[in-house]
Order: sequence, then C-alpha cells, then structure tokens
Amino acid sequence: MKRHYFIFLALIMLFFASSVLAQKSVVQTIVLDAGHGGIDSGAPGTGRYAKTEKHIALDVTLKLGEYLKAAYPEMKIVYTRTNDTFPTLKDRTDLANNSNADLFISIHCDSFTKTSAKGSSSHVMGLRYTEANLRVAQKENSVIFLEDNYEENYDGFDPNSPESIIAFSLSQTTYLDQSILIAQKIQEQFRERVNRTDRGVKQTPLWVTRATNMPSVLVELGFISNPSEEDFLNSEIGQSYMASAIFRAIKDYKKELELSSPNLAVTPVLNETKIDSTKLLPKNETTQKGVIFKVQIKTSLEDKEIASIMNFKVDVFKEKNMFKYTIGNEMQLEKAKEIQKIAVENGYKDAFVIAFLNNKKIGISDAINFQKQQ
Ligand SMILES: [Zn+2]
Repeated sequence: MKRHYFIFLALIMLFFASSVLAQKSVVQTIVLDAGHGGIDSGAPGTGRYAKTEKHIALDVTLKLGEYLKAAYPEMKIVYTRTNDTFPTLKDRTDLANNSNADLFISIHCDSFTKTSAKGSSSHVMGLRYTEANLRVAQKENSVIFLEDNYEENYDGFDPNSPESIIAFSLSQTTYLDQSILIAQKIQEQFRERVNRTDRGVKQTPLWVTRATNMPSVLVELGFISNPSEEDFLNSEIGQSYMASAIFRAIKDYKKELELSSPNLAVTPVLNETKIDSTKLLPKNETTQKGVIFKVQIKTSLEDKEIASIMNFKVDVFKEKNMFKYTIGNEMQLEKAKEIQKIAVENGYKDAFVIAFLNNKKIGISDAINFQKQQ
C-alpha cells in the first residue's frame, strides 16, 4: 500500500515538474555575435600568432553556442557569422532585431598600445563618451568606416566625433537594467571563476548595443596586445574557460529573470544558500527583519535623488558600483509581482523582483527557501 502511495506521489511530482518545464522561457532566442570577420581582422595581437581578434571571437562564440545548445536544446541560437565573413554592424543589429531575440551577446578582444594593459570588460548601452569608454567605443565602432556609404547606413553616426553622439542618443534605455544584469554576471564569472582582471561593466556608446531592441552586451575577453592574455585567449583551454564563463552567466541571468517574471510560476531551486554580502545603503536602510521583496526599476552609475515613482516610495541600494532603485517592500513574493506588473504597465519594461534577507540582497530562490523554513 505504502508503495502505491509513493508511486502516486512520484507521478504528481512528475506532473508538476513537466508543467513547469512547459512554461515559456524568458530567454528563448539568443543572438551570438562574433566580432569583426572577413576583411576586418579586428585587433592584430602581438604578431606572435596567425590568429587575430576575429578568429578568437569566432572560436569563443561557437563554443558558447555549443554549450547553450547542449544545455537548452529548445533555445534558438542565431549567429551573426559562423565563419570568416564580414557582416556590417548594421547587418548584425538588423539580424538581432528581425530574430526577435531576447539577448544579444557580442564577443571581442581588447587591445592597447601598452602591452601591460590587461583585463576583461563588458559594455552596455551608454550615450556619453567618457575617458573610460572612449577607446573601446572608437575601436569597436570604427569598422563602419570600411563601408562606402556608412554615413547613410548609420544615420550620420561618426565614432570619432563626440558631437555625433547627440544625434545617436535616442533614449533607448528600456533594456538597460537587464543589459547591466547580464554584463555584471559575465564580469563576475570572469573574475571569480577564470581569475581574469575585472575592468568592470561600462556604459559605452557602441552601435551594436544601441541599435538592438533587446538586452545587449559587448564583451571584451581580454587584451590580445598583452602577451600573457594573448596566449590564454589563443589556447583551447582559455577559450573554453571564457565560453563557459559566459555560458554560466547566461544561465544565472535566465534563472533570475524567470524567477522574477510575473508571467511565470515560481519554481524554487532547492539548493544554494549563498548569501550576497551586498548591503543596502544606510541612508534608506529598512528596519524590517526577515525576507523582503522589492521591485528593481532602474539602475544608474550615478546616485540620483528620486522620491517616488508611480506613488511608490523609491529606495536605493548600491551594488558593484551601480545604484539600483527599487519600489515596494513586500513580505510576499506575489505582492511584489503585482507591483512589478504595475511597473511594467507604466513603462518600466524590465522591472524585476529582487529579495533581501535582513537588508542583505539574496537570490529569489534563497528567499523562498528561507520563508519555507520559517
Ligand atoms: Zn572588436
């Protein structure tokens, strides 16, 4: 009798598991963009290898695609190139937009005149040339000069002119939060798991991350002008490490979005009780103990004073040099999801739910598990 009960229980669990699996994923289509190609070699490296930036970018991109395909057979992977061809920057962003992609990842290698420069960086949409991003912006945008009619194709956008960025500056900030989220996860993986020097997440005026209608990031794997990073990036193991790091970042990103999406049921993951050491800024520290769910609606590199949005009081906390603005202080996830829905309806399209335990940010699944144990 007992045995029948267990079989019955197992069937019930299987039923729930399959209904969860049948749900629509929030990351169904990913565009993988190997930088440069064909007549555009990208950065040349130190000259010790026949391979330049375009080869390394393609190798890592194809590896990443294989890992994604193996882990998520249902996911659609769109490549801007799978061999040594030269799609223009506009071809790449048009393809991404026409594919209705949920994520765009562009893979490149950095380069500098000083061979000592090193490290990995991730770039999301930005509108201003700053000292920190000018070099990468000019380097990665300048490929448009290879096109005869670039002025026509790129709406007068000139990578070398700081003024031209004004014409370029449509307020395409809809997907900025999610772009920053994936960029931070990529940097975290590079730093923690592949031991790369972390140059951080930067907001950079780049054609490919600006012209795409989806969360987008341009990754600079490392400096191929630096001999040791060039050796690493030319090695089979180095390429596998970098591709796996981006793969894990996408996996985390997908999981985080799915857990906080209002349209999807919550499927708590019953492990990982790692608690993030991130603290709320003292000025808005809440005194509430236990688990609190909030809705993150905005991210900024600068600390702005925002009193309220849609009649909700706005809180701010700092995480990895970014200021993150939230509304709602809910003890129940469902309540937070209702607020998220309101935020989405009011134009904050990539608002998502985050969780805190005693003022420390934790993962949604950890928060759910913690509440269950109470
Ligand atoms: Zn490049």
